[in-house]
Amino acid sequence: SATTVIQPTAKALVLDNLHKRYESRGREAFHAVKGIDLHIEPGELVALLGPSGCGKTTTLRMIAGLETVTSGDIRIGDRSIPHLPPGKRDVGVGFESYALYPPLDVEGNLSYGLKARGVKDADARVRAIAERLEMTDLLPLRPAGLSSGQKQRVALARALVRNPPVLLLDEPLSHLDAAQRQRVRRELKVLQREFGYTTIVVTHDQLEALSLADRLAVMDGGIIQQFGTADEIFDDPANRFVADFVGEPKINLVEGVVDRPGTVRVGRDGVLPTSSAAAAGTAVTVGVRPQDARIAGAGEASVPGEVLVYENVLEFGLATVRVEGLDSSVVVQTPADVTYRRGEAIRLTAPPERVYLFEPEGGARVR
Ligand code: ATP
Repeated sequence: SATTVIQPTAKALVLDNLHKRYESRGREAFHAVKGIDLHIEPGELVALLGPSGCGKTTTLRMIAGLETVTSGDIRIGDRSIPHLPPGKRDVGVGFESYALYPPLDVEGNLSYGLKARGVKDADARVRAIAERLEMTDLLPLRPAGLSSGQKQRVALARALVRNPPVLLLDEPLSHLDAAQRQRVRRELKVLQREFGYTTIVVTHDQLEALSLADRLAVMDGGIIQQFGTADEIFDDPANRFVADFVGEPKINLVEGVVDRPGTVRVGRDGVLPTSSAAAAGTAVTVGVRPQDARIAGAGEASVPGEVLVYENVLEFGLATVRVEGLDSSVVVQTPADVTYRRGEAIRLTAPPERVYLFEPEGGARVR
């Protein structure tokens, strides 16, 4: 992105048709990663998002060299790495599961690898990173006594002290409390910018992904479903999975039928405008984000409904609305100064380019 300060040493990370099949004797192989293509710019931070089991960790482990590659290529700069041992890959790994060496204190654990490689200012570098991550108090402690949040910061520090061109982080902040999480997240971002690490962060936390990442890769079923900026993914989802997975509150997804082109019927009496060019009579799943739904003006194509619940959530309101002919209610996010009354009859609409149509089977976007 334009704001990324690219360091001269920063390198691109490229995944090229990457596959992973887990072979287990007597059973069919499990195809966990099904041909990933990803081109991450030098110094860019990409968040890898997706439900449990979608292949995020497997992908990271293949890049780190902790898991073999079934087929495809991984390149850092112009160097292909799948045949290299983990230590020769120029990759910093902040995985929590990485064991610390019990007899050494945290400081020793952090400087050990650097000293083994003959880095002269190892102690100074460890101190500097520890200060930045607000963990100098942890340096004299033994690993056995650390809490999970403290272990997590040590794992992050260990990845950072190596000053790697490529940094891989798997849920790096999940065990920190809210305040600490925000501070460490900000510092991680500053360090990443300062040193130009090309970074992949795996996270379950969408807010974390949005605040950290230049671009998001949304993954499901071993496939990258969409790769783009947060705005691109939010405003123009590639398919129903992405529309449903990204966004809070969740997108409304209801069944519909294209009326004349440019309008879609929803529920018993509703009609919405859409910029999709799908042919009349096409059965579709209609997606409208709570943020995009609003009260219709007179004469606008709209969906009639009744307000079941209205909640005021400080900076905005949330109305739960029943629509005749739909199985589930829909959610509308309102500006703070708009209040809906329970039981109120309303007519809803949305901008045509914000009324997404998807194939009912498979969920591909119908443009
Ligand atoms: P989570 O967020 O829960 O960690 P993930 O997206 O990181 O999930 P992976 O850990 O990459 O998912 O796992 C992807 C799939 O591969 C899962 O179905 C998992 O059960 C399977 N899998 C992972 N490791 C192995 C293994 N060693 N042998 C067989 N199958 C495996």
